[in-house]
Amino acid sequence: MKKHQSQFFVLFAFVLAQIAWLGLLGLWIYWYVSNYIRYEQVREGYIVPPGIVNPKVGVFVIGIIMIAGIATAVFIIFRNLTVQRKLTGLYDNFIANITHELKSPLSSIQLYLETLSSKNIPPEKQKEFYSSMAKDTDRLHKLINSILEISRIEQKRVSHNYHISSADIIPKIIESSFKNFRLPEDAYKIEGSVRGKCVIDNDAMQIVFDNLTDNAIKYSPAPLNILVKLKSNEKQNIIEFSDNGIGIGIKDQKTIFNKFHRVYNKNIPNVKGTGLGLFWVREIIKLHGGKISVKSEGLNKGTAFIIELPIYKTSKILYIKSLLRQTAKKERFMETADGE
Ligand code: ADP
Repeated sequence: MKKHQSQFFVLFAFVLAQIAWLGLLGLWIYWYVSNYIRYEQVREGYIVPPGIVNPKVGVFVIGIIMIAGIATAVFIIFRNLTVQRKLTGLYDNFIANITHELKSPLSSIQLYLETLSSKNIPPEKQKEFYSSMAKDTDRLHKLINSILEISRIEQKRVSHNYHISSADIIPKIIESSFKNFRLPEDAYKIEGSVRGKCVIDNDAMQIVFDNLTDNAIKYSPAPLNILVKLKSNEKQNIIEFSDNGIGIGIKDQKTIFNKFHRVYNKNIPNVKGTGLGLFWVREIIKLHGGKISVKSEGLNKGTAFIIELPIYKTSKILYIKSLLRQTAKKERFMETADGE
């Protein structure tokens, strides 16, 4: 829907710009020709003294306005076309990436199934195959779920379960992400603590730290070192999540949260992805009333993501209360539906 709206806007702006500058051109020609004819008629009635010339200031001004109008129209058209071309490029990349992400687990499952059905495989080996297939299925499941969930967020159809939690839920969620990815204990460290109560959807927040952990693993050559620093000020719980990986160039730091954006650099290992993870992370943090930013000294200097989450009752009170109301309403609705 949004895409159609933006395409319609581009088309509308394009047509409007054309009408505007063609209109201006017509007006200018009309004005100039009629004035010229009048000027000639008047001039024929008088003897113009030598040294007096037709000043034509109006012609000059209108000409300038017209050129400025045309230039603006061309600029708008050019800018919209550039944005459109960039989006098409990103979209094409996304299709290529997602196709790869979908195809590779499917091919591997297919291969295991063919081997299992055509050959006599010893039971231990069979067990190994089944476990690999389960992992691939899980990967597909997660990928498809993430696409559906992101599309729901974009259409504002997402319904999170927000609850008031004590601050220590944050390190617990982070630690459980590390466990989900089976990180060895010496690969991460959590320093400091957060103090303020917060309103959080635990599952959504888990997705945030799963994505950050996944990226830290993908974009850090071994040995991985993740450092999480926790602190609070009066209004916010602040989480700084940093790794010792390949880092992100200053220019790319501005775009990595955008949908489909991936960084291409010959020094960066060829890691597969969809460019959706950080977009999803930012949307979840925004829905919690928070903010996320990135800091990196540059390539090969590691990356730090800084998340600021409002503390319950000291910041964004009205917004946070509206989140709690949404969840309470949803829970009441579910209870009624269960009771019927
Ligand atoms: P994906 O990982 O699927 O490409 P993301 O949205 O998660 O998509 O990340 C967008 C881009 O940001 C990545 O392609 C990568 O270039 C860069 N990036 C994200 N996290 C890190 C990190 N921890 N270190 C270096 N680069 C990162």
